[in-house]
Amino acid sequence: MNPDRDNNNKDHWDISEWDLYSESGPDDFDEVVDRQNIDEPDLELIENPDDEIRPRSIWAKRVIRFTASLVLIVFMVAFILPSAINAVWSFASRPDEPDYYSLIDIGGPVLRFDRKEIRYSIVVPENFPDTALGSLEAPLLRALDNWDDSLGDRINFVPAPATGADDLLIHFVTELRSAGLATLRPGNRYRPEIYIRLNVSSQFPRSSMLETIACHELGHALGIWGHSDYKGDCMYPIASRRTPSARDIRTMRLIYGLDGDVR
Ligand SMILES: [Zn+2]
Repeated sequence: MNPDRDNNNKDHWDISEWDLYSESGPDDFDEVVDRQNIDEPDLELIENPDDEIRPRSIWAKRVIRFTASLVLIVFMVAFILPSAINAVWSFASRPDEPDYYSLIDIGGPVLRFDRKEIRYSIVVPENFPDTALGSLEAPLLRALDNWDDSLGDRINFVPAPATGADDLLIHFVTELRSAGLATLRPGNRYRPEIYIRLNVSSQFPRSSMLETIACHELGHALGIWGHSDYKGDCMYPIASRRTPSARDIRTMRLIYGLDGDVR
């Protein structure tokens, strides 16, 4: 269909065929054809009114998508990942033994209360406001109840009728080298005392922290004069549990000669 476009053979053109494409000569023929091929896509780009907006909106979407992904990743790394790793680690490293009695058994006589009714006294710092006493007593009473319940009828905590007539002395103090402490008072009778520090800076609300320390120190006072090797227990050296675990309870029940059948 195309005429012969070789200029050197101009004499051989069939002029009737040429006229179909151009009036200005064979050199322009190429331009016409080429312009059609090249210009068409450009015309579309220029004439489409969305084209100037589209590139910008695509970038805006990409930036939003990237920012959202970044926020999601930061959130997962900061919050979800650590607790997930912690949960998997706790599950993987959970102890096989149902109790840790062997760790605290020193081979000698067991040091524990031999009476059922355990009278306790609370000592608070000087000038501590009476109105704030409840904020100390509430977590302490919860901790006492938790141990009391785990030993059934074997022990029963009751407030001491008078100062000095107690079996267990509980000090709330503002100065202490550790978060808590438990010792035995001298004498023939088993009379432990515990110390709970008040100004412990912590990620926990104050009440939870006090209950956590109380759980641990009361565990000592009741007879676990040693530590668990599992951090899921209240009697782990660095206390992080508010209530006695099943292993804490089994260990305590063995100390009191009770069966270790803990649900
Ligand atoms: Zn301890």
